[in-house]
Amino acid sequence: MILGIESTAHTFGVGLVHNKKILSNVRDMYKTESGGIIPMESAEHHKRVAPEIYKKALEEAKISEDKIKAIAVSNAPGLAPCLHEGVNFAKALAKKLNVPIIPVNHCVAHLEIGRSVGAKDPVLLYASGANTQIIAYAAGKYRVFGETLDLGIGNFIDKVARHFGMGFPGGPEIEKLAKKGKYRELAYSIKGMDVSFSGMQTKLQQLYDKGEKVEDLAFSLQETAFAMLVEAAERALAHTGKKELVLGGGVACNSRLQEMCQIMCKERIEKTKYFCPERPLLVDNAAMIAFTGEIMFNTGISCKPDKVEIKPRERTDQVDVSWR
Ligand code: AMP
Ligand code: MG
Repeated sequence: MILGIESTAHTFGVGLVHNKKILSNVRDMYKTESGGIIPMESAEHHKRVAPEIYKKALEEAKISEDKIKAIAVSNAPGLAPCLHEGVNFAKALAKKLNVPIIPVNHCVAHLEIGRSVGAKDPVLLYASGANTQIIAYAAGKYRVFGETLDLGIGNFIDKVARHFGMGFPGGPEIEKLAKKGKYRELAYSIKGMDVSFSGMQTKLQQLYDKGEKVEDLAFSLQETAFAMLVEAAERALAHTGKKELVLGGGVACNSRLQEMCQIMCKERIEKTKYFCPERPLLVDNAAMIAFTGEIMFNTGISCKPDKVEIKPRERTDQVDVSWR
C-alpha cells in the first residue's frame, strides 16, 4: 500500500494505491472569493485540513495505518510554503510509521497517471494553473517539447477572470460564459513549440474595459488559447512519432479543450488515441502521486525521511527517470 500526498499549490490531498488500483483519493482545495492564491494562506489551509484529509483517505480505502509501506510526496515543483506543509506532514508520518519516502515530481505524476486509463507511452498536454507543458518520454527523460514562455494557461484564465470581477478559480466561470459568446480575433501567439499568453491577457483586459461583451471575450479566449495548445501538442506527436495523447491539469476539465484535442487526434493520419482521465485524476490530486510513487518504489526508489527536500523550481526534464 502506497500513500500519496499532494500539496504543491491550492490543493491538499491524500490518496492510497495498491497494485495500481486507486483505493482512495481525498482532497480539499483552497479557494478565494476574489483575487488569486496567497501562498502563505494556501499553506495554512493545508496545515489545517491535513489530519482530517488523511483520516478520510484511510477510511475510504478501509485500511489501517500499519498497511502503509511507503509515503509518496509531491516535493516539486510548486509554491514553497505549500510544498513545505506536504513534505513536513509526510516526514512526520513516515517517522511515526517507520516507512520510507518517495519524492515525486508533480508534473511527471500527471503523465504517469495516464497509465491508469490505458496510455503506455503518451504525449502529455499538461494544462494547469501554473504549468503549461507538453511532455513526453525520450532518451531516458521526460522532455519538455513545448511550454509557456510566460504564465500558465490556468493562471492566464484566472487573471483575465479576476479582471472581469470573478473569484478563483476563474476557469469554470469562463467556460460557462463562452457558451454564449461569439468569435472575435485575438493574437495567436505560438513561437516554435512554445506558447505565450501575456499579450492576449492585456488585450482581453483592454477590450473588457472598452465595454466588449464578456461572453465574446470568454469564447474567443478559449478558441485562441486552446488552439495554440492543441497545435503544439500535435507537433510534439508528429515529432516524437508517439500515438497517444493524455490530458492533464485543471484546465483539461474544460470540455471545449477536450473536444479540440479529440478532434485533433481523430483527424491525424497517424491514428492517435486520446486519453482523458476522470476529473478527480485530472486536477491536482494525491492518487496520481501515490500511483507514480508505487511505480518508482517497485523499482527500488525511496529514501529516508530526513533526506527529502522541497524543490520548488525543479523542471520536468531534471528528473532522473530510472524507473522506466
Ligand atoms: P490545477 O493547477 O491543475 O489544479 O488547475 C487549476 C486551474 O484549472 C485553475 O487555473 C482553474 O481556473 C482551471 N480550471 C478548472 N476548471 C476549468 C475549466 N472548466 N475550464 C478552464 N479552466 C479550468
Ligand atoms: Mg497540477
